[in-house]
Formats: sequence, structure tokens, C-alpha cells
Amino acid sequence: MTLKVFNNLSRSKETFSPIEPGKVKFYSCGPTTYDFLHIGNARALVVGDLFHRIFKSLGYEVNFVRNYTDVDDKIIERANSLGRDAIEHAAIFVDECRTDMDSLGMLPATHTPKVSETMPEIIDMIQDIIKNGYGYIVEGEVLYDVTKFKEYGKLSKKDLDGLVAGQRVEVDQKKKHPSDFVLWKPAKPGEPFWESPWGKGRPGWHIECSAMAKKFLGKTLDLHHGGVDLMFPHHENEIAQSEAANGCAFCHNWAHNEFLNFGSEKMSKSLGNVVRIRDFNEKYGGQVLRHILISVHYRARLEWTEEVLQRGVDEVRRIHEFVLEAKNYIANPKATGVDKLIADCIPSMKEELSNDFNAAGSAGNFFSFLRFVKANKDNLSAEALKQVHEVIAFANASTGIVSSNPEDVLSHLKKLDQDTSTAGAEAAEIEKLIEERKTAKATKNWARADEIRDILKAKKIELKDNPDGTVTWKVIS
Ligand SMILES: [Zn+2]
Repeated sequence: MTLKVFNNLSRSKETFSPIEPGKVKFYSCGPTTYDFLHIGNARALVVGDLFHRIFKSLGYEVNFVRNYTDVDDKIIERANSLGRDAIEHAAIFVDECRTDMDSLGMLPATHTPKVSETMPEIIDMIQDIIKNGYGYIVEGEVLYDVTKFKEYGKLSKKDLDGLVAGQRVEVDQKKKHPSDFVLWKPAKPGEPFWESPWGKGRPGWHIECSAMAKKFLGKTLDLHHGGVDLMFPHHENEIAQSEAANGCAFCHNWAHNEFLNFGSEKMSKSLGNVVRIRDFNEKYGGQVLRHILISVHYRARLEWTEEVLQRGVDEVRRIHEFVLEAKNYIANPKATGVDKLIADCIPSMKEELSNDFNAAGSAGNFFSFLRFVKANKDNLSAEALKQVHEVIAFANASTGIVSSNPEDVLSHLKKLDQDTSTAGAEAAEIEKLIEERKTAKATKNWARADEIRDILKAKKIELKDNPDGTVTWKVIS
């Protein structure tokens, strides 16, 4: 089966042909570790994991690198405000990120380098860039000269003249061209620093990915991925740096996932202040978030709504109830052969996955299979039943739409039902008391009316008598 991948360099779907047949060199830009991850960060992470899994299930051997940015302005700022060492602060959140990624059912990457552990390679690469005539030094700062790199803009389809015209911020006087970017900068007091040929300092943001990719994957990669927001300038700069230092193509295919959009009002209503992956997963379980993220093609925008969330919960429940149920299916000795829908399921899923990683299409195949198997569960031959288990295992390995721990997923959803019904029961109780208070007031039983107000106040419920005679309530903190 031929794998087709939408390549953002050509803006078209192309046949994927890795440098070494059967082997993939794959890099995905990872998180900056200054705080807990937000669910907005989850999409790029899960999409990276999805590519990794799909390559493996299509038979590729994958060398997958996902970095941690542990040296960065945001980290230094946060660490200083807490009176903590910046590298230590980042290390705490590298661990927290790992916990979140595990909870989303992500497979470990082959390599997960940190900036703080890649300094010699970063410095070497900057030296190569300068040596090859693409870098210059001003006041201890090393800058990249974009005008020297003739292909600058080939990924984002921007040209340098257009960039100058669009420049709204005040131009840094040190730069020869407004789009020149920092490779190395001197450390200010209170900042972490490393020794370098240009004095004590630290790298700019973009150079780390170029250096890490080269360290673990070589000079040329097969696929590079990141969120669409990283295409410019980050990925454009990665290309400029790597090609200037190495003198050859940096990466043959570029894939970008679209945003997860929380702009709508419905989103804030459904999630309240549950915005961290951690908090979401505590309430719904990581499988729900993973499911929602893989149920839309990675190049399509995902608008978060109450309906999307509810459908995610329902589908995750359906899948995992089925998976547990199927463990106890018994073959019917009278049945023979294997139904086409079961026999064709893995090839159909592979076909979808080979079409630009279409996990949503593969999920559609899985749901047709699920419906068919449930309806015919008493009439499966031994061979059919064996294939049913193979399909479930493939769905687990290829996209993770089936969790490795179905029991955990369902027990989480059971807890969610209880929480929801408890909240419902409490609201009903409050409404009942409000009704009783209304009657008490109508019959001038002021003592009882006040008593009810106090009972509710003890439950942290505050009543408001509106001019139109209605009563509303809110939870007070
Ligand atoms: Zn990167």
C-alpha cells in the first residue's frame, strides 16, 4: 500500500518515499516546559503520536524525535518569580508533561532531547552557520542573515520584501534585515548560561530543533511535524539554519496540524475553568480527549463544542463496552467462514491511514465493524472471532482509538455519570427548597422562609429575590 502525505513544501499530497526504504526519520516540535499543558497543546502532541503509530502499523521502522524546550524566556521568567532555578523548574514540568502524555495514551518517542542537554551540538551548528557565511555577530549576539539564504520562505511561501512591508514592530537596529533571527544571545544577570565562543549565553529558540534533528536523525529528515502556528517563523528558520550548516536538504515532507479552537461561547460553558489536560483528564479520562482529537482529520480545524464533548464521551463508552464484551464472545460451532466486513476491516483501515493519516476515516471503518460484530455476535466462527480480536488489537496499535486499559476508561466514565447525577440531585434539592420557601412566604410563615434561606446558605447557595417575583440562586465560594 502506498502512503500519501500532504506535504506543505509543495502544498500537495505526495507519495511518501523515505530516504531509506522502510525506515522513517521523523521529528515533531515538542512543548516548552514552564507550566502544566493546556488542552490546546494536546492536539499537536496527539497528532505527532498518531503519525508515529500509523507509520509503525504500516510496517515502517520509525526513529521519532520529540524535543522538550527547557531553556526559554517564559521558563526563566516563571522560575525567577518562584525563586527557583530555571533548569530545575523546567525539569519539574518535563515530568508533568510526561504524565499528561501517558494519560493521553501516547507511545514514548524514540528520543526526547532537552535543550540543556544539547548545548555542544547547538554551538557546533552555529559555528557551521557562521563559517558558511550565513551568520554574523553583533555585541555578543549571533544573528542569522536571511538575505544569504536564497530559498528563505519556501515553506511558508513568504518573500523577504513582503516581510519587510509587513513589519509592524520597531526594527532591531542590530539586525541587517528585519527578519534576521537570533542564534545565540548573551545571558542577562539571573539567567542560565553556557560557555560559548561568543561568551556566556544561551541559544535562540529555533536552533535547538535543527541541532536535535541532526543529532538523532542525521542531516536530512523524511518528515517534520508541528502545529500550523509553527510554520512561520519557526519551521522556516529551522530550514534556513539546517541547510546553511549542512549544505543539503533538511527535510523532504512537512506536515502541520490545524488548531483546536476554543473560541466559541459553548466551549467555556462546557469546560468552565477546566483547561489543563490534567484537569480535563481527571474529570473525563484521557481517552475522551484523545478520541476527540483523532476523530477529525489533522488538517481540519476542530471547533470545541458541548456536542463534540458529549459525542466523544458517548463514542468512547460504546467502543470500550464493546471491547470488554468481545473478550467474552464464544465462537458458534455451527458457523463457518469469515464475513467480508470483518475480513476487510484491517485492510480498509490501512487504506484510510495511508491516505494522509486519515484516522477519522479509519474510525469510521471501526464503527461499521463494531455494529456488525455486535449484531452477529452469536453467529461468529472460530476464525471470525480470531479476526475480531485482531481488528481490535489493530485499532489499539494504529490510532489508539481503543485504549490499552478499557476497564480504566469505563470506570472513569462511570464516575463521571455519578458526578453528573449528584450535581443533578443537588440542583433538584435546591429547587425544592426554593419552592417550599415561596409557599412559606405566601402563607406569611416568615420563620420557615428564613430558615430555608439559612439552610441553603450553609450549602453555599445564595438566593436572589428578583423584582419580578422569581428567585434565582448561585453557588458562593
Ligand atoms: Zn521546532
